[in-house]
Amino acid sequence: MFNPLSLISNLYKTNSLLSDSRLSEIIKDSEERVAKHYNIPKDILKSKYTIENLPEIFIYGVRYVGGVLEGYIKKVGKILGMYNPENDHISIGYKNLYSEKRFRETVIHELIHKVQKVLGKIYTLPRYLLEKEAYEVTEKLT
Ligand SMILES: [Zn+2]
Repeated sequence: MFNPLSLISNLYKTNSLLSDSRLSEIIKDSEERVAKHYNIPKDILKSKYTIENLPEIFIYGVRYVGGVLEGYIKKVGKILGMYNPENDHISIGYKNLYSEKRFRETVIHELIHKVQKVLGKIYTLPRYLLEKEAYEVTEKLT
């Protein structure tokens, strides 16, 4: 059983709109939805969760400005969650704590990656198909 008190570090706790017990409920509910969808025992989905400040995503490009070529970096978003198949660790970006809907979607998305590992897909299918499945099933389950 995971300890909800260890879920959020004090750093993020002050900004969270969701209590530890609510986060635990959402995780439990997410595990049930994903297990039911794939018809697998929900105990398989038990994972270690941490709330983290996840990296931002940038695109790098070049553009012409007044006849001069210049390089630029543009921030396009922030990673919402990550699943590490090596140790079944799910990292949830702290920005998910501002919205129950977003927290649930991110947990379900990462749990689907875990299912993909259990089913052996993660090592055989290309990344874009894994993400496609994760987005589509998340949409269906939320
Ligand atoms: Zn993903």
